[in-house]
Amino acid sequence: MNVDLSRVLERLDTIYECGKQEDGSHSRLAFSPEDQKGRNLYMSYFRALGLTPKVDAAGNIRVRLSGRDNTLPAILMGSHLDTVPNGGKYDGALGCVAALEVFEVLRRSGMELEHPLEAIVFTDEEGARFGKGLFGSNAICGHPLPVSKQDVDGQGMNQLQVLEEFGVDCGALDQAAISPENVHCFLELHVEQGASLWRNEKEIGVVTSIAGVDRFEITLEGQANHAGSTLMRDRKDALVTAAEFIAAVPQTVDAYGGDYSVATVGCVRVEPNSVNVVPGKCVISLEIRDREQAVMDLLLEKLQEKLESICSARGVASDLKVISRCPPSPMSDWVIDCVEQSCQEAGRSYEKMPSGAFHDSLLMSAVFPTGMIFIPSQEGISHSPLEYSAPTDIENGCDVLLRTVLTIDKTNRR
Ligand SMILES: [Zn+2]
Repeated sequence: MNVDLSRVLERLDTIYECGKQEDGSHSRLAFSPEDQKGRNLYMSYFRALGLTPKVDAAGNIRVRLSGRDNTLPAILMGSHLDTVPNGGKYDGALGCVAALEVFEVLRRSGMELEHPLEAIVFTDEEGARFGKGLFGSNAICGHPLPVSKQDVDGQGMNQLQVLEEFGVDCGALDQAAISPENVHCFLELHVEQGASLWRNEKEIGVVTSIAGVDRFEITLEGQANHAGSTLMRDRKDALVTAAEFIAAVPQTVDAYGGDYSVATVGCVRVEPNSVNVVPGKCVISLEIRDREQAVMDLLLEKLQEKLESICSARGVASDLKVISRCPPSPMSDWVIDCVEQSCQEAGRSYEKMPSGAFHDSLLMSAVFPTGMIFIPSQEGISHSPLEYSAPTDIENGCDVLLRTVLTIDKTNRR
C-alpha cells in the first residue's frame, strides 16, 4: 500500500489554482468564493470514492470511512484549506490532501481499519479576515465562539453576515462539538514553516508540543518636545528608548532562551509621529514564544529588567500590559511514539521538535490525544508564494501519516 505522489501533487496544484487572482497571486481567504471553490473540489474527490462529505454547523468539512467496529472511537486527520493573502501552496492544503490520500489508498486496497477514520477540513484556521483564526477547531473542541456584526473585514463586510452566507449556522455552533469519547486521536500533517528540518537535513519532524505564546503591550511615556531647541541631554525620547529595548530583545533571548525560544517586537506606534517633535510616547508589542512556560516566564522577567534599566537611564516611564497568554501545549505521548515508530519503519530520518506556529492541533491537543507530523519547508519560508516543500518530502510525509494511522489503528492506548 503506497501513497501516489503524482496524485497528491496534482491535487495540491489544482486546489492552489482555485485561489488564483487576477493579478496572478493566489489566495483562498476563509469564507471567500475561492475558499468555497477549493472546498467543493476537495469534497468532490471524496464523492468519487463513494463517500459523502458533511459540513457541520461551523462549516468544517467532515468525511467518515467506516471501520470494522464502528462503536470504536474514530481516528481523525485533517488541516485547513484557507490561506493568508497571497499565501503558499502547502500550508494547510498539504494536511488536507494527505488525509484524502490515506482514504484513497485504503479504499483502493480494500483494506478496512478497525476504527472509523475521519478527514476534517477546519474552517478559517488563519483568521486572515476577522483576526481570530482557529474558528472550526474551536467549535469542534466545544469552545464558545462569539460571532458579531461589529467585527468587519478589510472590505467592511461584517462577520455574522459573511459566515451565515457561507453556510455557517452561527446560532448552532455548539452542535459542531465532538465529544472526546468518540475520538481515538487526531493527526495533522503540516509543513514546518520554519527552517529547522531543512537546515538539519531531516526528513520528518515529530512534533512534541506547540509553543506557547504570550503577548504584551508596552507603553513608553517620555516627553514630546521641540526637535530643534531641545538639547540631546534634555530629551526624554520614547522612541529612542523603544529602539534601545528592541535591540536588546535578541541578546536577551540568546542569553536566557532555549534552542527554540523567540521574542518579537512587531508593532510600533509613535506619538505624535512628527518630523520636528521629539517622540513623547511610543507603544510597542512584545511577543514571547517557547515550548516551556518556565522559559517564557524567565525571558519576560529578564526583558522587564532590561526595560526598566533602559527607561530609568532615559527618564522615560514604562507600563507593560498583558494582552493574551496561551501556554505551550504538549502533543500526546503515545501518539508521538506512534509517529516516531512510523518514521523508523519507513526508514526516514526525523527530529523531535516543537512547533513555533499555531495550528488547529493546538486546540485539539487540549481535548483529544493529538500528534503532528512536519515535513521540511525550503529555507523555512511560509505564508508566502515562495513556500516550497520538495516532492520527496511530501511523499515521505503522506507515507508517515498513512503508517501512523495503521499503527494507531492497532493501538488501544489512550
Ligand atoms: Zn497551517
